[in-house]
Amino acid sequence: MKKVRDKYYFGIDLGGTVTKIGLVDRKSNVFEKITFSTFAYNSKQKLLHHIVKNINEVLQKDSKRKRQVGGIGLGVAGLVNFENGLIYKLTNIPGWKNVRISKILKKETGLPVLVDNDVNVVTLAEFIFGAGRGARNMICLTLGTGVGGGLIIEGELFRGSSYSAGEIGHFPLNADGPRCNCGSYGCLERYIGNRYFVSRVLEKMKITSKGNKILKLAQGKFSEINPKIIAQAAQRGDSLASEAWCEFARDLGLVLAGLINFLNPDVVVIGGGMAKAGKPLFEPLRKVVKKFTLGIPGNTVKIRKAQLKDENGIIGAASLFF
Ligand SMILES: [Zn+2]
Repeated sequence: MKKVRDKYYFGIDLGGTVTKIGLVDRKSNVFEKITFSTFAYNSKQKLLHHIVKNINEVLQKDSKRKRQVGGIGLGVAGLVNFENGLIYKLTNIPGWKNVRISKILKKETGLPVLVDNDVNVVTLAEFIFGAGRGARNMICLTLGTGVGGGLIIEGELFRGSSYSAGEIGHFPLNADGPRCNCGSYGCLERYIGNRYFVSRVLEKMKITSKGNKILKLAQGKFSEINPKIIAQAAQRGDSLASEAWCEFARDLGLVLAGLINFLNPDVVVIGGGMAKAGKPLFEPLRKVVKKFTLGIPGNTVKIRKAQLKDENGIIGAASLFF
């Protein structure tokens, strides 16, 4: 049989809440997209079985296309050994410890498998198809519940000696700061992670009479306040909300400025749920970065919002093969 050039790769975005699978071509088009709740499959075996079943169903649908599928890329929230396809541990899915995911999926589907952590995968997607196109050196940040980072150096994803590079969320910002989930103190994530950011805002609202626009947008319910509402309030001129984003930008900007001085990247791409805040975040962030960077790296670096939307995990996972 004539060998057809690999045209498609499966991309799997295995998240704590939702798992997404799609077939991705070399232009980042996504076909046969499937999304399901990760929670619905409450054991490792059930979840793996469901993934394999979906992949095999897509392969069986079209025999010509089956020959054009070159492999399965997987992005997971957790610690991964990229070299041998071993998942050490998943952050939000219990029961996944030391799983040889690439061996298992290869056995069940006959396809080669590459696995990496979710932030590396998003970094690749933005580098190849998104806001980092054309860059040589790039930092990618994902701002959400956690704060993640990925690094492209001289056109290649930089993974570090034991594949854990990019953990910017645990950049120590304050030696006397509050305890972080990781066991350390005063990590960046402990200040700008989604929940910590919101709770800082709530505390301020308690001790001042400010933040009326935030509360109004949350329909009077403190429990409904989230980063999106705080961003909207800032856009409408709420001073407490604007100050909160300025503090956020200061904490993130200091770390980022240090990294820019150190690495001299062309571009910093910022994604994740909290990047949707837009102007209230990006305006002060650019100012802080400008103030704390050296002339040359500070003048050349571009700070951009991530471009790819919710398919970035699928596209990036498939991109492990590109
Ligand atoms: Zn930490």
